[in-house]
Amino acid sequence: MTIPEPRSVSRFRQFLQINTMQPNPEYYKCVKFLVNQAKEIGLESNIIECVEGKPLVLMKLEGSDPKEQSILLSCHTDVVPVFEDKWTHSPFAADRVETGNGDFKIFARGAQDMKNQGSMYLEAMRNIKALGKKLKRNVFIAFAPDEEIGGTDGAAKFVETCEFAEMNVGFDLDESAGIPGDTSIVLYAERTNAQVKFTANGNTGHGSQFIEGTAIEKLLPIINHMMNIRAQNKAKYDSVDPAMRLLKSGETTSINLTELNGGKQPNVVPASYSVTFDIRVSPNENIAEFRQSLADLAHSNGAEIEFHRPGESSSLTKLDLSNPFISAFFQSLDSQQIKYNNIVCPANTDARYVRTKGVPALGFNPMLNTPPLAHGHDEFVFESEFLKGIDVYTTLIQDLANC
Ligand SMILES: [Zn+2]
Repeated sequence: MTIPEPRSVSRFRQFLQINTMQPNPEYYKCVKFLVNQAKEIGLESNIIECVEGKPLVLMKLEGSDPKEQSILLSCHTDVVPVFEDKWTHSPFAADRVETGNGDFKIFARGAQDMKNQGSMYLEAMRNIKALGKKLKRNVFIAFAPDEEIGGTDGAAKFVETCEFAEMNVGFDLDESAGIPGDTSIVLYAERTNAQVKFTANGNTGHGSQFIEGTAIEKLLPIINHMMNIRAQNKAKYDSVDPAMRLLKSGETTSINLTELNGGKQPNVVPASYSVTFDIRVSPNENIAEFRQSLADLAHSNGAEIEFHRPGESSSLTKLDLSNPFISAFFQSLDSQQIKYNNIVCPANTDARYVRTKGVPALGFNPMLNTPPLAHGHDEFVFESEFLKGIDVYTTLIQDLANC
């Protein structure tokens, strides 16, 4: 007996078959598909192009009380490049392969990151429309470009538009990942980029002499200090149960020396030397105080300091149950008997841009039993998890929009 393919899965596969791989995503093909989906479901749609060639598709389901704060569902449309020779399935064929126990695997770049989530939103909205019940709040879905290359021309610009302001967003459901095992994750915060460059200038001279006050003499205590903090943080990270280490990694500030520059030739003491560290500051630390401590370190050693992204602020949604959206979110998960861990995202998502507008944002993807293959080879999801996820979102979106 062959099991017929659910319509929702066919539509998901069509979305996956659009090659939106960086650096040349087929954004307009994607827009056409999404606008068509919106029409079919009965959602309004609007294309917002903050940067030419980088369209964002905004869909809307009008609520019965459109003056209330709205719900935003966020998704990005681009996907990361593939090493095609490492794939056993063509990355944009979206092959549907039977697993032997009645389930199917859907293989494609973007199957996990994150066209699955976008497709589950759409299918949930389709279900909600089919129920014929009007939700209280407006619900928007934003399909944004360029998240995989930092979101500068995507969500970062979108949150600055009048369209975004007019949406009056009260809560953003944002990107997360399916998870192996039976416990979901809720991403409530992210680490903050504090990449920094220290530069020291000093006396120069012939390499055969004991020159004093050199650039490297000023820089070495800085390097040692940073490497000491790194060792302390790594010890904290290593003390976490290995099974939870990756999930918990966002709670520790990571430090890596990534660039060391100076020197012209072996027999000349360099007049200038610089060192760069990639630092991701945990939301458990105060970012302003952390940056100040690095500035103090530079000054006390006679070095200059330059932050790569000085404007980036801490990205954290307080899990404050007196906020009606936060409370509705967790009540919905509890009522659906979903187990979850609240996690600091080890990487970055577009949620950080939404949070800069004071909007609470939580990342949640209901897929379980999913091996982590975002950005990996042979990325796939189980069809059964996709179908279950649609039901979870169908309930969650109604609970959020009616709270
Ligand atoms: Zn993603």
